[in-house]
Amino acid sequence: MTTILETRGLSYSYGDGTKALMDVSISLEAGKKVALVGPNGAGKSTLMLMFNGILRPSGGSVLFRGQPMRYDAASLRSIRRAVGMVFQNSDDQLFAPTVYQDVAFGPTNLGYAAEKVKRYVGFALQYVGLFGYERRPPHHLSGGEKKRVAIAGILAMEPEVIILDEPTSNLDPASSEEIMEMLDELNLGGKTLIISTHDVDLAYRWADEVILMKDGGVVRRGTGQEVFGDALLIRDARLKLPLVVDLYQELAGRGIVRGSKPPRNVLELCDLLQTKAQAGARGKIYICNVDEVEGEEIRAMLDKIPAGFKGAMGTSAKVMAERCGITIDFTYGVIDKCILKALIGKNSIIMTSGGMVDHTLQRIKDYGQESGTKIEAIRLLQGYRKP
Ligand code: ADP
Repeated sequence: MTTILETRGLSYSYGDGTKALMDVSISLEAGKKVALVGPNGAGKSTLMLMFNGILRPSGGSVLFRGQPMRYDAASLRSIRRAVGMVFQNSDDQLFAPTVYQDVAFGPTNLGYAAEKVKRYVGFALQYVGLFGYERRPPHHLSGGEKKRVAIAGILAMEPEVIILDEPTSNLDPASSEEIMEMLDELNLGGKTLIISTHDVDLAYRWADEVILMKDGGVVRRGTGQEVFGDALLIRDARLKLPLVVDLYQELAGRGIVRGSKPPRNVLELCDLLQTKAQAGARGKIYICNVDEVEGEEIRAMLDKIPAGFKGAMGTSAKVMAERCGITIDFTYGVIDKCILKALIGKNSIIMTSGGMVDHTLQRIKDYGQESGTKIEAIRLLQGYRKP
């Protein structure tokens, strides 16, 4: 495990004397998905601004890869490249007249040659699913699209860590899911992600590590199960329990389910409720790598395979489905939803790409090992002809 960001005895007071952080000492591991949760005024945004040097500590220190942060212009440029920050309100971040210019701002400022800037901007826009938006004015885009432009602007600088303050606030549910899934994809590609959120369900299902803050300090950190398993602590922090934990605690109180810790998601809750193996055939999960097949071929596959439900995971798969007019049933939590369908005998297909293909196969295999219920996962290859 490599520590990527660390604070030691970190304190911060704003100019008016408000003490926003008091003696915060935490370390964050590289490659993790971290959620900062806590009530308004807990200090989440202030801590995030410390992580990329926008604010300078009043006391204590911030370390990046073991080195204390320095605040001269060159060091700040380097830390802001490595640790990108996406603000809560995209309008605070996007200011250029076109999407291209906005995304190009960071790499241009870093002194990259024009050709390299063009390449990086192209890659970043492709990644966030906004290829072709180059000439559009950012302020005419939807909330979800603006957030994607802001993320593209950070990606174009190839950061190691991406920090997002309330990434889903003011977004509709579908746009929120798409943004969170994009963050999953980035994390699978090796990026460390830190978000702040009030959405406890989101923090619970998404984060590897939850850090609960209150009154300028960290009151608890751990897995979602460890932090949200403590109902009193959560109430004391003026938060609510994630729905799956709330339901589990009600069911446990009535003796309907047993277990030492709450389930992580609906799939695990269903497994707890199901005391004996369900009779009847399981459904299968077909996995299609959209990088390997043409749109027309995917349509042909869908006609041939006996898949009842369709899931699209990742931006490429969603863009491909939209281009081919394929109606998608699941766009978030796709693997678990398909496993749930398989458990009741229904087939499904997951369209995805890149490293997420192996991740999907592994997740289904792991579920089989943990639960003792094997689900057949079939990887569709180019030229797939027969169910
Ligand atoms: P959170 O992100 O958890 O809501 P913040 O980091 O925004 O918390 O705020 C922590 C504390 O600092 C709060 O008491 C807040 O009122 C105060 N604060 C935040 N920004 C400023 C500012 N620019 N000037 C003065 N006080 C501020």
